[in-house]
Amino acid sequence: METKLADFIRDTADGREADAILRKCVHCGFCTATCPTYQLLGDELDGPRGRIYQIKRVLEGVPATPSVREHLDRCLTCRACETTCPSGVQYSRLLDIGRAEVVKQVPRSAAQQATRRALQFSLSNPAVFGTLLALGRTLRNILPSRIAAKIPARAEAGAWPRGKKHDRRMLALAGCVQPALTPATNAATARVLDALGIELFEAPSAGCCGALAFHLDDEAGARQAARRNIDAWWPHIENDVEAIVMTASGCGVQVKDYGHLLRDDAAYAVKAERIAALCRDISEVVAAEYESLLPRLQRQARERVAFHSPCTLQHGQKIRGLIESSLEAAGYTLTKVRDPHLCCGSAGTYSVLQPALSTQLRDNKLAALTENEPAVIVTANVGCQTHLAGGSAVPVKHWIELLDAAL
Ligand code: SF4
Ligand code: SF4
Repeated sequence: METKLADFIRDTADGREADAILRKCVHCGFCTATCPTYQLLGDELDGPRGRIYQIKRVLEGVPATPSVREHLDRCLTCRACETTCPSGVQYSRLLDIGRAEVVKQVPRSAAQQATRRALQFSLSNPAVFGTLLALGRTLRNILPSRIAAKIPARAEAGAWPRGKKHDRRMLALAGCVQPALTPATNAATARVLDALGIELFEAPSAGCCGALAFHLDDEAGARQAARRNIDAWWPHIENDVEAIVMTASGCGVQVKDYGHLLRDDAAYAVKAERIAALCRDISEVVAAEYESLLPRLQRQARERVAFHSPCTLQHGQKIRGLIESSLEAAGYTLTKVRDPHLCCGSAGTYSVLQPALSTQLRDNKLAALTENEPAVIVTANVGCQTHLAGGSAVPVKHWIELLDAAL
């Protein structure tokens, strides 16, 4: 696509990146067919090709409008369009650049900004979020049903392996909401890795990966979160930790992008690249240990499982098939799931900021997941897990819990 970027952006790093991305797009529209918001709304402006066109116009100097901002805000950043695109257009990078410029030109109202800052503060701070969740559970019976449905019951973590030390060590990210919402995930991961002769531990001073801040218009906050995590992890990296394990694919896609996020930070750029290179989704770690894992699995016939692959796993990290293989090796029967490329509507804080679209996508996803009568639904990201569980009669778990049960 031919471009003529305006003076305000043409010679900046963002301008050069946006220009290169826009030039790759041949406007074919293949991506539109797999876009969840286009499927729901049927408006070209709510599909990737239309959004690319709107961003192009703004970067070429046509003033942004509240309508453009709304069309960009409705995007889930699911990146299904990137998977479909035959030209390799990095849509999500373009969206980040375009959305930042549009919000600069058409600022959000004070109330919208306050909502975003409140979400960022409460969700990215584990102590605050844990307190709010405990309060919500206590008051569940008097809360509106719409809000009560979003509060999951208390879950038991199960024991972390104690006393056993292994030469092989890996770091885990505790995350921000995961310790309170789904504490079983990292405990089950620690037990699985322990069985494989790997010690898993968390660095207490690490925190939110920064994805929340990044997607709530606070890129500086996202960079600060990345620097804090790098500082927390670096002494362990120097002490021969093999990998930094992510059990939430939403965090994984963010940490794998630390090199790009901090590319202009002289003090952190090299460290950020190294951290990103050491970051592994737990499915990648398990797959690399297959030879040692397979003899340990008690491979009797197990329950029927429907797997929902989060967008941050299949489109963001391009990890496909690993979890399915691990579960089948452990004796689980995977049920067929229609439209596996489509987002469940969780998408970070999307379920709060775009509740109608998010609920419609969740209901569609649950219908597809339960069509072939699974006993359990599994996924690989805390956001998808709690979002789906909020509307599901079938239990929803992290897939590693099932592998843990098979060992
Ligand atoms: S982003 Fe890719 S698939 Fe979509 S219109 Fe452009 S070239 Fe075609
Ligand atoms: S990221 Fe997802 S919602 Fe956004 S344009 Fe692409 S396919 Fe559509």
